Amino acid sequence: MIYDVLIIGAGIIGKMVAHELSKYKLSVAVVDKKKEEDLNGNESLSKSIIHGNYTTSQELFTDRFSYNSRVIFENISKYVDFQYNPIGSFLIGKNPKENEKILKIYETAQKSYHKDIKLLEKKEIFSLQEELKDQNVQSGIYCTGTGTCSPILLSNYLLQSSKSNGIHYFFNSKVLSIEKYSDFYEVSTTNSQYKDFLCKIIINCSGYQGNTISEMVSDPYYNINYSEHKFIAMEPLKTTSTNSIILEIPSSIEKRFYISSANDKLRLFTGRDNLVVKKSIAETFINVGDTSVFGLTYSPIIASRILNLLEETNLNFIKKDL
Ligand SMILES: Cc1cc2nc3c(=O)[nH]c(=O)nc-3n(C[C@H](O)[C@H](O)[C@H](O)COP(=O)(O)OP(=O)(O)OC[C@H]3O[C@@H](n4cnc5c(N)ncnc54)[C@H](O)[C@@H]3O)c2cc1C
Repeated sequence: MIYDVLIIGAGIIGKMVAHELSKYKLSVAVVDKKKEEDLNGNESLSKSIIHGNYTTSQELFTDRFSYNSRVIFENISKYVDFQYNPIGSFLIGKNPKENEKILKIYETAQKSYHKDIKLLEKKEIFSLQEELKDQNVQSGIYCTGTGTCSPILLSNYLLQSSKSNGIHYFFNSKVLSIEKYSDFYEVSTTNSQYKDFLCKIIINCSGYQGNTISEMVSDPYYNINYSEHKFIAMEPLKTTSTNSIILEIPSSIEKRFYISSANDKLRLFTGRDNLVVKKSIAETFINVGDTSVFGLTYSPIIASRILNLLEETNLNFIKKDL
């Protein structure tokens, strides 16, 4: 059979996309090189953050992605228990220079339509988070939508639900090569039973190895280099006992996350933030890449963006009666 859509990669993004497509009368398959039981290694953290992500100085479209994603997560939480907990986050300023930055960030975020953030005065911050009194906080932004959740529970739901809506999953199926014919692709894998998959459209959700897959269709416009990212897990921060996520003003090259009871880890990372969700030179090959450390946060809105891109193709979109 020729599948309408083949998704390469069953990480959180591949499964979110599969779940979205499972609502339509389309034939969709997902291939992943891992065994099914090893899949949740991707979502290895027991708790992850649905980020506020409003701090970038330019008005990147990724900012809007994160607000819209937060709205979708809240909706999903009404019918799925994935331990979604919107605990909120504070971005705090501790001196006049940082206060000025806080104001600028707030103004930029307003332009990017973040409807869940508030600019707070000192008094309001302390009334919400008394523990911050010890930290010389002078100004702050509060994002009510920032939250934590269990990516494993979410992943399991997406997998089971999309399977029962008719999506075919093939594990142990590493993609080795892709051959493009005039109106379909032939995707060769290591699957012992169905080695070759035929499909009209490919969505590349293979994570940090995304460029390997992309190069199989000689896509010159897509190039990611994940080696620029550094992740350092550090000791828990002992000085606060807050319930929310507390963030410092980010500099241009690094962001520090102070997380207390939300996650018990202080993480520091540097890197780029250039989310890619676009068609390649071949209109029927869509790449998702550079999700950085925000892949979970972006996943619902990436899925709906992909749906929009697919609606521009000649696939027949008819909703299923579910
Ligand atoms: C330490 C750390 C903490 C993080 N914390 C957060 C957080 O709090 N909040 C947040 O929003 N994000 C967080 N992230 C980021 C988030 O985890 C990632 O952005 C997200 O998991 C990426 O998902 P993905 O589906 O794109 O990729 P992946 O999870 O990597 O999935 C890609 C899949 O493709 C498969 N694959 C690859 N190549 C092939 C091939 N040739 N053939 C078949 N299959 C293939 C792989 O087996 C894999 O299953 C964190 C990341 C790290 C590293």
